Amino acid sequence: MKAVETDVLIIGAGPAGLAAAFETASRGLDVTVIDESLSLGGQLIQQTQNLSSLPSDLSPMRGFELAAHLIKQIEEYDIRYLLGHRVIGFYQDGTIGITDEVDVFPVKTKKMIVATGAAENAVAFPKWTLPGVLTIGAAQTLINRDFVKPGNDAVIVGSSDFAMDVALQLSEVGVQVKGIVEKSTGVLSRNTEKVKQVNKIGIPIYVDSSIVEARGMGAVEEIVIKQEDRVFTEKADLVCIDGGRSPILDIFYQLGTSFGFQKELGGWVPQYNKDFQTDCKDVFLAGNAAGVSTQGALVLTGRLAGMNVCEALGAVSKETAAVEKKGLWKELEIVETKYNLDIWHARNRHVDNFTHPVLKDQFIS
Ligand SMILES: Cc1cc2nc3c(=O)[nH]c(=O)nc-3n(C[C@H](O)[C@H](O)[C@H](O)COP(=O)(O)OP(=O)(O)OC[C@H]3O[C@@H](n4cnc5c(N)ncnc54)[C@H](O)[C@@H]3O)c2cc1C
Repeated sequence: MKAVETDVLIIGAGPAGLAAAFETASRGLDVTVIDESLSLGGQLIQQTQNLSSLPSDLSPMRGFELAAHLIKQIEEYDIRYLLGHRVIGFYQDGTIGITDEVDVFPVKTKKMIVATGAAENAVAFPKWTLPGVLTIGAAQTLINRDFVKPGNDAVIVGSSDFAMDVALQLSEVGVQVKGIVEKSTGVLSRNTEKVKQVNKIGIPIYVDSSIVEARGMGAVEEIVIKQEDRVFTEKADLVCIDGGRSPILDIFYQLGTSFGFQKELGGWVPQYNKDFQTDCKDVFLAGNAAGVSTQGALVLTGRLAGMNVCEALGAVSKETAAVEKKGLWKELEIVETKYNLDIWHARNRHVDNFTHPVLKDQFIS
């Protein structure tokens, strides 16, 4: 593979990266998208649930439909795709090291947008390393992307919106969901409609409860649950852990950006300003990498990062950019406050904490 030179390197081809690609490529910039996966769409491609909190120009649609829509939107532009490639390092001369797992080759870019998404957090309990204990995202990927039924009898640990979606998706493919175990005193999902659907198909939700241990010889066979003073056992060959998600930070660590802690955004998040620009001046970010949020917000942050890169590279006038950015922030406010006001407040706190950044020139010249 030859060295690449580009205006904008977008790392991650999920909803945020694809939205940023549209924003930048449609304004005439030379755009390169890299993703370690072999297809575009990121984690959207296994999401069969309906996404309702999308920006007003997008109608409600399923996750994989949103991926298809965003991919179609960029079809007409001459974007360079490096799929099955990973960013592995940054050199002091401003070059970025990319590998296709065989060779390493350099990429030179004027600006970079990091949209590497979020990783699922584990919840540990005795014997949680037994085969059959998965994250809910892994279970979702198996059923919806790989068409593999991961078990017959499942228990889900955690009760977020994501847990409700996966409980319904597992049931649809014939997995019997024996229960949802939640340590808080109430269900965490804010989607009352989804919770109603879960109740309707008879999946019990145990609040104020925890997993005592998993049991089994070589694989999980049963799970011991404690609810207040009652301890009981459920037969299960599948345990799906919903421990929340945290931004993937590897690339930011390598770049040397600074971080701030915002629990509501998933924990440690790279510092960024209203332009979604980190304190490495040529590095912007978007999507769950900028704080775990809802799909609509992820798309909007991708558009915002893209618009700011266009402005920085002179592909759009300051006046046009100002109008567009104002509209995008307004839309972000609408989408995010509707979904979860705490996330919107945390995002604003995070941005406000970064009002006087010392922008570093390092890595990209
Ligand atoms: C398994 C799984 C299932 C999920 N299911 C749901 C769900 O049902 N509902 C929901 O609301 N949220 C779900 N999520 C959360 C998910 O993060 C968001 O739905 C959304 O896809 C995030 O968009 P994004 O663009 O920020 O990142 P992603 O869609 O995660 O895309 C990031 C992309 O970056 C690529 N990447 C990361 N690091 C590198 C690197 N170093 N080099 C090259 N490429 C890299 C990844 O391969 C990935 O394709 C899930 C997450 C996971 C991990």
